[in-house]
Amino acid sequence: MSLMERLERLNLVDGQLRGLSVRVEKAKTFHRAQTKQLDLERNRTEEAKANLLQVKAAFGVVETEAKALDAQIETSRERMDTSATAKEYNALLVELNTVKNERTKLDETMVQQLTEVERLETLVTESESSSSERETVVATATKDVEERETEISERVSELQTQRDKAAADIPPDVLELYDSLVKKYDGEAIAYVDIESFRHKEFSCSACSMQIPFAIVSNLYAGLGRVQQCTNCQCIMLLGEDVRNELDKDSKKNVKRREKLAREA
Ligand SMILES: [Zn+2]
Repeated sequence: MSLMERLERLNLVDGQLRGLSVRVEKAKTFHRAQTKQLDLERNRTEEAKANLLQVKAAFGVVETEAKALDAQIETSRERMDTSATAKEYNALLVELNTVKNERTKLDETMVQQLTEVERLETLVTESESSSSERETVVATATKDVEERETEISERVSELQTQRDKAAADIPPDVLELYDSLVKKYDGEAIAYVDIESFRHKEFSCSACSMQIPFAIVSNLYAGLGRVQQCTNCQCIMLLGEDVRNELDKDSKKNVKRREKLAREA
């Protein structure tokens, strides 16, 4: 097996490994996003519950104050009923009105607090319900990740063994180049020669679509065993079956042409 064929085999195995891990990665990404949402919803619930406790406690304080004022109002009225003079009565009336004003203000505060209690109670109920819905989604996502991991684990270890074997067949410097390109291009280290115009000997790189010198194609076809890199993206170039067939046909034509010339000479 030529070096190019061995590289092609390694690339194929790597592609299969990537394909498998993509499925798991997708499931993991979804799981992460849902878990984050769940955390946010739980925090929102906790925050609303804490606020609710605070507002209820504040309401309790105001309610006690209101009861005290009610008692005061009652006392003032009783004293007014038994007041001896108009002057005393009027003084008590002023006092009563002041207390009544305070009491009205407390009523307003309590109405606001009760509205807030209602709002927070709704918020707690809503966020608890969306948390519990989200919990179901997270549980399904967790199961999905596990299932996908189990599903591929056997195949991954098979492929990993194949990968190790295929990599062992590649000279270290070439493997190093290949691995660095894999890293750089998210796995796409290998590119194929594409035909732009066979007649004009114009070829391009399948990875970056840029034209490549014909020398790369002829070196690959000659099977010199040297790595040929795209002059633009640096990907390791390989010759596909289609291009090889075209070159075979062309070289047969050339042989015939040479034979004909030789006969004519
Ligand atoms: Zn290229």
